Order: sequence, then C-alpha cells, then structure tokens
Amino acid sequence: MSGKLYLVATPIGNLEDITSRAIRILKEVDYIVAEDTRQTLKLLNHFEISKPMISYHRHSKEEKVQEIIEKLKQGKNMALVSDAGTPVISDPGEEIVKNAIKEKIQIISIPGPCALIAALIASGIDAKEFTFLGFLPLNKKTRKEKLKEIENAKKTTILYEAPHKLLSTLADLKEVTSNRRIVLAKEITKIHETYLSGTAEELLAMQEEPKGEFVIIIDKCSFDEENKFEKMSLEEHYKFYQDQGYEKKEIIKQIAKDRKVKKDEIYKQFL
Ligand code: SAM
Repeated sequence: MSGKLYLVATPIGNLEDITSRAIRILKEVDYIVAEDTRQTLKLLNHFEISKPMISYHRHSKEEKVQEIIEKLKQGKNMALVSDAGTPVISDPGEEIVKNAIKEKIQIISIPGPCALIAALIASGIDAKEFTFLGFLPLNKKTRKEKLKEIENAKKTTILYEAPHKLLSTLADLKEVTSNRRIVLAKEITKIHETYLSGTAEELLAMQEEPKGEFVIIIDKCSFDEENKFEKMSLEEHYKFYQDQGYEKKEIIKQIAKDRKVKKDEIYKQFL
C-alpha cells in the first residue's frame, strides 16, 4: 500500500505558530521533504524531532520528484515543508502534489501559517473577496499585464515581495493605483511586526532601505471614488469591459450601472 503525503505548514517567524498536529506528523512520518534542509533542521531541533530529510527546491529536477513519488509508492509516509509558511504557496511542491494525485497517493493537508492570510486579516482592507498574485513577474511584458490587472481590480489584491525589490514595486504600483489604500504588512509574527497604511506614494516616502519580509495588500479600484468612468469616453468605457472578456449585453448593463443611467440610454448611444 502507498504511503501518505502530508503538506505541513510551519511558522512564518514565531515558532509558537505550529499546530500540535503538525508536530505529531513531523514526528511520525518516514521522511521530511524540505525546501532547505538546514532551515528545517533548526525547526526540527527546536521541537526535538530527528528525521531523515530529502531536499526539494525550485531548481530540483524531475528525477527528484520521481524519487519522492517512488518512496511514497513503496509505502513510506512523507511530510512536505517549505522554509516557512504553507508549502506550495509561492513555494515548491506543486509538482510533487500533481504527480502524487496521478499516482492516487493520499494527500493530507496540515494547515497553519500563511503570510498572505495573516496579512490580509490584519490589514483592514476588504477580505471578502481577493486575488493573490504571488510575486510580480520581473519580465517587463508580463509585469505590465499584472499591473494592468491591479489597476482595474475589483477585488483586493495581495502580493508577496522581497525587501530589495519593494521600492521598485511600490513605484510601479504608484502608477496604477493613484490614491487607493495599500497596506504593507511587515515581519508578521516577529518582534518588528508592523502594518503601514497609505497610498503607494505615501508608503514610498516612508521607506528608506526596506528590511524584513513584506506582504502588500492593495484595496480594490473604487470607480466611484476616482470618477474613473466619468473621465472616459463611452467607447473607452466599452473597451474597458470588452478587454476583460465581457459580452455586449453585460457591458451595456455594467456601463449603465457605472454611470448611474438607464440601460436603454446606453443602448441608444450604441445604435
Ligand atoms: N509559503 C509561504 C507562505 O505560506 O506564506 C510564502 C513563501 S514566499 C517564498 C516568501 C514571501 O512571503 C516573502 O517574500 C514575503 O512576501 C512573505 N512572507 C513570508 N513570511 C512573512 C512574514 N513573517 N511577514 C511578512 N511577509 C512574509
């Protein structure tokens, strides 16, 4: 019989943030698959766990995935962990999970800390609906596309960012978010945990040399506030929704709603 694959969330700073179930699973499995074995060793030592580890990181080859799957098929139980937080979320592991599903290996999620959720709930920004974009791409074209998506976002957007790239990302966000509120959630669960709130421009002025870890939470685009549609021609307004893949009927309905006029009035304009 195949073994089980446990996806185990680990602390994002404060070592108290680990569930008792996570500790039990780490003690019980045959192997721990870790993004950085040295990093995970610190965690294991803290909880007095001694376990063979297999290194698996974003540069690992396909053979490594197969090696792990083979061990699972031989009946070994494994726990997958990343350096911090929830594995697979902007961290390695997706390929292992996909392959394990193909092989009908039982997968068990052991939930726990995840920086994006911890940041969102403390931000005070609408948490009912949100889009998580992970790290913004560095490639110019795809980055521009993502920034466009943020510009028109009708839901809260969440980004991860490395400290040395924070200023350039805030500068890009300044161009697309104007006066929308942004929260920088810094060093969550650590001694210097801070939440900074302001427009991208204000946040840029507050940062000199960003240090530590950051999650960026961006409020949705509030069209009423910015009178964005009033500044657009009807054709631009139409194209705005067309570019998002809406059908004509839906576009007309949406335009009427944005401009607070009857649908018929908009229909007539397009006849
Ligand atoms: N899988 C992890 C999770 O569940 O959150 C995320 C891993 S990703 C490689 C690392 C990024 O998560 C950092 O660059 C930062 O944006 C965010 N992050 C992780 N820990 C954080 C913390 N304690 N405070 C703020 N942001 C954090």
